[in-house]
Amino acid sequence: MSEHHDDGPVAAQTRHVEALLEARGLLDAVELDRALEAFLAGASPAQGARVVARAWVEPEFQDRLLADGNAALEELGLSMGGGIQPQRLKVVANTETEHNVIVCTLCSCYPIALLGPSPTWYKSEAYRARVVRDPRGVLAEFGTELPEHVRITVWDASAETRYLVLPRRPAVPVSDEAELAALVTRNGLIGTAVL
Ligand code: FE
Repeated sequence: MSEHHDDGPVAAQTRHVEALLEARGLLDAVELDRALEAFLAGASPAQGARVVARAWVEPEFQDRLLADGNAALEELGLSMGGGIQPQRLKVVANTETEHNVIVCTLCSCYPIALLGPSPTWYKSEAYRARVVRDPRGVLAEFGTELPEHVRITVWDASAETRYLVLPRRPAVPVSDEAELAALVTRNGLIGTAVL
């Protein structure tokens, strides 16, 4: 400390840094808004359908998708978004004996990048509470009756981890990837429907 307590230059420097931070903050806010707009404009079930159709036609892609959802999305130029906190994508595949359903029991966590905004029923307390206790009953209310031998697993999404159901490929004579994608429904990707 100098005797005459000359903090002038320090104060000036602090103000300068503050101004820079403020300018930077505004810049970040604008960039964030722009990124968010672009993200929401692209977020729809069509993205999830693209991912699923690719997995159906390319078994190696399906393997990579199930092993590391986020990395596989990048191959298609997609990402989970999520801003500050990156979202982990876990893809769960339906089989002849396994069916998967997604929920967020706590609130409404959902893979928005791949499905767009969530439907109202997904956020309802009735769905969140009941699908865990009685998945078969809830699925039946959606018109989805699964054979008794099919085991149903309910995946509880969180801020960090989001789930996407990989439905079984419908038994139709279609092999074109875009045509296959058109067969994929939002509820099929949530697991409340089969295709
Ligand atoms: Fe949630």
